[in-house]
Amino acid sequence: MSNMLKRVPVREQDPKIRIKNFDEVCLGYNDEEARLESLRCLDCKNPPCVTGCPVGIKIPEFIRKIKDGDVAFAYSIIKEDSCLPAICGRVCPQECQCESKCIRGIKGDPIAIGKLERYCADKMFKNQAVNKKINNNGIKVAIVGSGPSGLACAGDLSKIGYEVTVFEALHEFGGVLTYGIPEFRLPKKTIVKNEISNLKNQGVKFEKNVVIGRSVTVDELIKQEGFSAVYVCSGAGLPVFMGINGEGLNGVLSANEFLTRNNLMGAFNESTDTPVLRKKKVVVVGGGNVAMDAARTAIRLGAEVHLVYRRGEAELPARLEEVQNAKEEGVIFNLLTNPKEILGDENGNVVGIKLVKTVLCESDDGGREKCVEVEGSEFEFSTDVVIMAIGTNPNPLISRTTSGLEVDKKGRIIIDGNCKTSKEGVFAGGDAVTGSATVIMAMRAGKQAAKEIDEYLKNK
Ligand code: FAD
Ligand code: SF4
Repeated sequence: MSNMLKRVPVREQDPKIRIKNFDEVCLGYNDEEARLESLRCLDCKNPPCVTGCPVGIKIPEFIRKIKDGDVAFAYSIIKEDSCLPAICGRVCPQECQCESKCIRGIKGDPIAIGKLERYCADKMFKNQAVNKKINNNGIKVAIVGSGPSGLACAGDLSKIGYEVTVFEALHEFGGVLTYGIPEFRLPKKTIVKNEISNLKNQGVKFEKNVVIGRSVTVDELIKQEGFSAVYVCSGAGLPVFMGINGEGLNGVLSANEFLTRNNLMGAFNESTDTPVLRKKKVVVVGGGNVAMDAARTAIRLGAEVHLVYRRGEAELPARLEEVQNAKEEGVIFNLLTNPKEILGDENGNVVGIKLVKTVLCESDDGGREKCVEVEGSEFEFSTDVVIMAIGTNPNPLISRTTSGLEVDKKGRIIIDGNCKTSKEGVFAGGDAVTGSATVIMAMRAGKQAAKEIDEYLKNK
């Protein structure tokens, strides 16, 4: 393959070294690498990559500016459509969005659009102007949840002039960006905290340890606290379990709990001793990003990690990059395998897991292949910990404590095309509406909600 067909490789920490630390795995492009990669872009007249981007970033335009050496301009082009480029450049599934449409991908490697986005954001990060305080108009808007959806909505509303307060149930801001995605994929102190402090400088108020529905309800925010509108973006943090025997044993954790205890309680820090696990045998059930994050975190805590997924390699929903990284780091993949039961000892501790082999068969309705258990293929496998990473739903607390707020049977808040819920003055978006999705979709929902809330308040 000629050089122009092959993407400039991105530097990464060596797997042997990185499994012993929580530092970022991907080191990103330097100036020369970014320039070389940008030169591969064909600057297409009708760029298909843009149609693949959920927020329509003007991709060839920003890449052109990297070619010209004007990274500040490139960054400003990205910022027109995305408010979190340093984050999206790291965690967006570009391989099935913009990069999957790239013309270069027909004969060679698609342009590394995500890595170029990240390069611009990181380069500007050091020289970034701190956001200036914006005088507000005294109209109060409450945002419930400080994940990417809440941050995007807060940023846009405060720019228009609203007095915005973000309420967060946890003791740290950032939602999944902080408590879910591990440090080795998304550094918190630099990237996530920087975004939040920029919003604070702009005048957005942040209140932590406030559980809406317990500390104060949405109804009270409107009737007693003087908020003219509320944006509910409380995510989908309620873990789903399989409903098999043994899920109540000591040593069975949801991936959310496991990752939160590591990310927010510092279990990765040698000087703290959060008793989640150290040097144990761990089974992670699931095949998505959350499963890979849990498995790779467990590896860094010294465990022998076995991933169990009921479908095959091609069906793994996780990003390809995460799957490759997990394999390089020593995660053992047990595909076409499904748990039947978790086994415990007389003290109620996990000692093993009963598994069964599966095959994929054509479905009766022509849809996704069915996953069928192979008769007589059950076997037992010893383990100390089982981490369930098979999905999450929205927590029902807000819908149960807000009068007239309609949700569907999975607890997802129902909205119309304008982000409006069934309750006057209450808007919703992000994972709380869609169920577990992606950072960019949550951010897009937050930006749309900001526009709709502004429209609503102007007409009120
Ligand atoms: P969240 O990020 O979940 O934020 C919601 C916030 O609301 C939380 O901080 C929560 O504490 C708070 N909250 C909840 N209830 C209340 C309440 N009652 N009162 C006050 N606050 C409340 N997406 C990608 O694009 N790429 C990835 O690589 C990726 N990896 C992931 C890895 C993991 C481990 C997980 C869990 C998710 C991952 N995702 C990824 C999905 C992505 O992070 C989410 O889709 C996105 O964060 C949703 O944003 P959100 O703002 O809607 O909700
Ligand atoms: Fe450049 Fe690929 Fe987009 Fe064409 S499709 S403009 S080559 S990134």
